[in-house]
Amino acid sequence: MREVRVRFAPSPTGPLHIGGVRTALYNYLFARRHGGKMILRIEDTDSQRFVPGAEEYIIESLKWCGIEIDEGVGVGGPHAPYRQSERREIYLKYAKQLVDADWAYYAFDTPEELDVLRKEAEEAGKTFAYNYEVREKLPTSLSLSKEEVEARIARGDQWVVRFKMPENEIVKMDDLIRGHVEVNTSTLDDKVLYKSVDALPTYHLANIVDDHLMEVSHVIRGEEWLPSLPLHYLLYRAFGWTDTQPEFAHLPLLLKPTGSGKLSKRDGDKMGFPVFPLFWTAPTGETSRGYREDGYLAEAFINMLSLLGWNPGTEQEIFSMQELIDSFSLDRVSKAGARFQPDKAKWFNAQYMHSLSDEQLAPFMQPILREHGIEVTDEVAGKAAGIMKERMTLVTDMWDLTSFFFVAPTEYEEKLVKKQWKGDNPAMLKALRGVLEAIEDFSKENTEAVVRAWIEAEGYSLGQVMNTLRLALVGAGKGPGMFDVTEFIGKAECLKRIDSLVNNVTPVE
Ligand code: GLU
Repeated sequence: MREVRVRFAPSPTGPLHIGGVRTALYNYLFARRHGGKMILRIEDTDSQRFVPGAEEYIIESLKWCGIEIDEGVGVGGPHAPYRQSERREIYLKYAKQLVDADWAYYAFDTPEELDVLRKEAEEAGKTFAYNYEVREKLPTSLSLSKEEVEARIARGDQWVVRFKMPENEIVKMDDLIRGHVEVNTSTLDDKVLYKSVDALPTYHLANIVDDHLMEVSHVIRGEEWLPSLPLHYLLYRAFGWTDTQPEFAHLPLLLKPTGSGKLSKRDGDKMGFPVFPLFWTAPTGETSRGYREDGYLAEAFINMLSLLGWNPGTEQEIFSMQELIDSFSLDRVSKAGARFQPDKAKWFNAQYMHSLSDEQLAPFMQPILREHGIEVTDEVAGKAAGIMKERMTLVTDMWDLTSFFFVAPTEYEEKLVKKQWKGDNPAMLKALRGVLEAIEDFSKENTEAVVRAWIEAEGYSLGQVMNTLRLALVGAGKGPGMFDVTEFIGKAECLKRIDSLVNNVTPVE
């Protein structure tokens, strides 16, 4: 195989959809698997759809996901620049080359002239297409004299270059995922390749020229580009570049959770999950939630995405990035669309949260603690998170699950008060306070041993004692084992919290 060089070529038209992240991921895995290069090219030739901030968003998203770029915007490389708007001088030459070789032509038609033909077609019951049937009825370099064409260009008339799609020819194509595909060119129209109005190429021309110049070996992209493939094949032929033409792989769509139709932001809004990797604020002020801010770990998010359209051929579900690189192949990418399952995304995240060590949990915990005005060491932060991690699904669960380690209850859960704060229990808790106060070694194990012995000697029930202690220390019927709490908060704080319950809450009759 030739040197593998793949590219992720997003257009900065808004936040990067998770389908786009998956495209980037598969490119990256393929590049790494074959010791190749991953290129990031920004396709910003459509000035109408350009959105400020989108490029930065794309770059930050890839970084968060751990998708590394070898060449491209923000990194540089032998084919710089990698932002198409900075390569504009390159494309005109290639557009002209196609015109000279009779594979393309200048068109000067106005919207009004096109409308006339469109109406004619409608009246004849046909859908209008700009193709071999109309190109010579309009003012183009195929219908006008050479002098007229030159005169029009010289006086500054607006023009476009269109591809001269052959009539009734079968284009035979091969796709690494879809297999062999054939299309009759009579079903295709004459696509615009270049526009004088902004002196910019369209996607098709810029994309093919750049893939060629950047020596791209494999084009791995979304299925929505499959209809453009015949044109791209013909462009390679028209330029005489078929020898080095890249191989193509069109990835299946990401489908709605219901399985019908493409996954959209609206589905996410309706069902409560993000369809973007990071939180995004549009220039209009509209915001979109992101996986990162919703509390997902990048590794879990990537693992989940990796399996939407690809399967390893085994039962294995948890994959690190390195394991994905080692097992990825385009052969195992399916043709069928992949249904997005929000619950499965959560499941993956939970698996990853549970597997983190205290040291790995600390950096997620610290910003949350700081937000609540709590300053502790990484060790303390990590320990609190570690005790509760089995119950965590998202990073955003961390505070609710651990807050009692850092703040004493100020309110007590009514249900628990009614159940526990009555009868012998207040007196029992006061006695327990004395027992705790006398303990020297306040480690979980020792405290537990002493308290259990006391419970037995006094004839209390374990549940009764633990639940009352929980009311005092946590304020609610939640949290880990009580001795995890006593050890974590320490003796002084335990006594303080017991006093607080005893002094502030009147026992129920
Ligand atoms: N700029 C195109 C996009 O936004 C790239 C398509 C391709 O990879 O050829 O998806």
